[in-house]
Amino acid sequence: MNRAEEIAFPHDEEPEGISHAFHIAHEWHSDYKHSLKNIEALSHYIPLKAREKLLLRQIIKTYHMRIPLYYLSLMQEPSNPLDPIRRQCIPAIEELCEGDHESIDPLGEEMTSPTACMVHRYPDRVLLLVTNHCFMYCRHCTRKRLWKTENFVPTLSDIEQAMGYVRRNEQIREVIVSGGDPLTLPTERLDRILSTIASIPHVEVIRIGTRAPVVLPQRIDEGLCRALEKYEHLWINVQFNHPWEVTPEAISACRKLQRCGIPLSNQSVLLKGINDDTQVMTELCHKLQSIRVRPYYLFQCDPVVGASHFRTSLFKGVEVIEKMRGHTSGMCVPTFVVDGIDGKGKVPLAPNYLMSVTSEGVLLRNYNNQTFFYENPTE
Ligand SMILES: *Cc1c(COP(=O)(O)O)cnc(C)c1O
Ligand code: SF4
Repeated sequence: MNRAEEIAFPHDEEPEGISHAFHIAHEWHSDYKHSLKNIEALSHYIPLKAREKLLLRQIIKTYHMRIPLYYLSLMQEPSNPLDPIRRQCIPAIEELCEGDHESIDPLGEEMTSPTACMVHRYPDRVLLLVTNHCFMYCRHCTRKRLWKTENFVPTLSDIEQAMGYVRRNEQIREVIVSGGDPLTLPTERLDRILSTIASIPHVEVIRIGTRAPVVLPQRIDEGLCRALEKYEHLWINVQFNHPWEVTPEAISACRKLQRCGIPLSNQSVLLKGINDDTQVMTELCHKLQSIRVRPYYLFQCDPVVGASHFRTSLFKGVEVIEKMRGHTSGMCVPTFVVDGIDGKGKVPLAPNYLMSVTSEGVLLRNYNNQTFFYENPTE
């Protein structure tokens, strides 16, 4: 750790109302800062023709780019536009298309937001958006609308207001800290937010959603672990989408968090040409199970503007799950969910194993397509 260097807020622009006069420089700050943000820099790593550069420059005016060099190094074929790592981080022309039934806020988060930076959709849990910064801007992101700094900069007073809302609503037993990526905040600031949440008596669980172990595993450093291990009710959800992302570095980052007693779960997004394939998804989930990261959800890619090229048919997700269920460990099989438009919430879509129902019982189908009758116990 290099103490001597005084660094600014690790974000490019310091959000209003936050002053970090004296900071300790951590190694991850420099990896974060040196991520690729412009096309010129990118062209040193990826062969790009002049026309492509022009196009990419156009795209990032609308949807910006940030790629940690670590993540870029996971590409196996940098010159192949279909490389699953490349497609998740490098802009594509399709992002500028706007399709029917697409929206900039498909989940209606703005209309279920009781205070700034909070979404309250379900009775007992809320989503707290603490930043709009990410280590990497995933091209399939549902919250692209928040990427533009001017649209969304939670201040300390916004977060305090949101905390007031949680304090007043005693039915809230879980606070999900998300964004953006909450781990882009300086550890001390994240720690302060977590301790405020933890001080609310009726909050029983805190959950953090982050992609840090996947895209910038260096972020999981000693200081972060010391801060997080204090919270006994903390869960972390990560987002691995492809088996190539499960590297020794990512595994070590997960392990550090697990050693702090934090259970890790994974939420993948079903992405066309990347992981919409039973073999790829099974390999990913096997790898995750072997490092004790529980596959939790597989999301249908939301109808957000600028992500149409990632969306698969709904039946693809069901098919992938059907080919996994029973054929491999149940611990490996995530729940496939669609997030309903306009705040309707998550709905699981599962293969149908229920063939028919009578008052005596049900006709069922097992994973091997054998049907059998199961009697309903009489009361
Ligand atoms: C996804 C989400 C949650 C968490 O849902 P779980 O099914 O508990 O994982 C909570 N609030 C909002 C607004 C969400 O989008
Ligand atoms: S880390 Fe999450 S919030 Fe950030 S760009 Fe990726 S999907 Fe979106």
